[in-house]
Amino acid sequence: MKPSLTGIILEELADFLRERGAPSYRAKQITDWIYKKRVASFDAMTDLPNELRAELTAEFDTPKTEVVRVLGSKDTTQKFLFRLRDQNLIESVLIPASPALYGQPSDRRTICVSSQVGCAYGCKFCASGLEGWTRNLDAGEIVEQLIAVEEKSGEKIDNVVFMGMGEPLANLKNLLRAIRIINASWGLGIGARHITVSTSGLAPQIRELANESTQFRLALSLHGATDEVRGQIMPVNRRYPLKVLLEACDYYVAKKRRMMFEYILIAGVNDTDEQARELAKIARRLSAKINLIPYNTVEGLEWSRPSRARQKGFQSILRRHGVVATLRREKGHDIAAACGQLRLQTKQAERELRLSV
Ligand code: SAH
Ligand code: SF4
Repeated sequence: MKPSLTGIILEELADFLRERGAPSYRAKQITDWIYKKRVASFDAMTDLPNELRAELTAEFDTPKTEVVRVLGSKDTTQKFLFRLRDQNLIESVLIPASPALYGQPSDRRTICVSSQVGCAYGCKFCASGLEGWTRNLDAGEIVEQLIAVEEKSGEKIDNVVFMGMGEPLANLKNLLRAIRIINASWGLGIGARHITVSTSGLAPQIRELANESTQFRLALSLHGATDEVRGQIMPVNRRYPLKVLLEACDYYVAKKRRMMFEYILIAGVNDTDEQARELAKIARRLSAKINLIPYNTVEGLEWSRPSRARQKGFQSILRRHGVVATLRREKGHDIAAACGQLRLQTKQAERELRLSV
């Protein structure tokens, strides 16, 4: 598969042009066409010589990602279903301005993007893992989610969270490339502090990120504060048990900056007082804030969310131990509800689409 146009990096393009004897200013001209004017083909780059356009067309694939469906309306969470060039389906979610969303100001629009088709990690609460892993997205396919959603919605995206389908750190090379494009001034120009990557806890990659110069934020999906509980809901905990994971986090926090935790509350599974106390210890060790997310029912899974009283009780234990913990609202702008269940919704939509064709 040829690399796609929306995965182009300015510096690499400059090398490509140099090798062909084209003037270096062309590189910026081309990235402007792609990332600012957002054209979908080299033929549309009218100020480039025909010969160069042909050379670029031979080298790069032009986006074949197609928005096949939009769910939701302008003032609510909108879900975008994409068909990739190999027919696989992925979803992105656009979340409108919302108070206290990852500590960002309230007038920001957030996109939740996918990093893979499916997910190999099979967390027991997550629809994305239910049907396994198909493939990694390339950088262009990640970036295209932003471009297509801005185009379709007419909204300007301010925040990006990698909380859609897939485990971003299992696709690290393409993830870092996509983030470079999303962040660069010649690219989409979204500030690194407005980009959040969520991981289920791949310890080696967390260490690797600690050594990178990138500035984006990191969120850790903890969901269990002891190996016993976490292992029960996240198979990845067997590979990287809490001791190994938290040491990697210590290293990350020491080298870089704070991370934040996500903790889904599942009734009778991880919502006990004891888990809250253990979670508080971990949060204090890493100076991490915690986002508590009431579990969202997934078709085919028997778990449910605790009562609102229990959710608040869990939160207050954390607070009593001096930990900053936010509790997401049940419905509405629920980013987890929006993003955590992409696979399932995608599959359902696919079936519906098949019926309607
Ligand atoms: N693989 C990465 C990123 C994608 S999942 C990770 O695991 O962190 C991102 C988040 O989706 C999870 O942390 C969780 O907060 C949310 N999520 C998944 N399934 C959910 C469910 N059933 N209810 C609520 N949140 C869910
Ligand atoms: Fe994969 Fe994250 Fe879902 Fe776990 S929670 S199955 S790592 S997408």
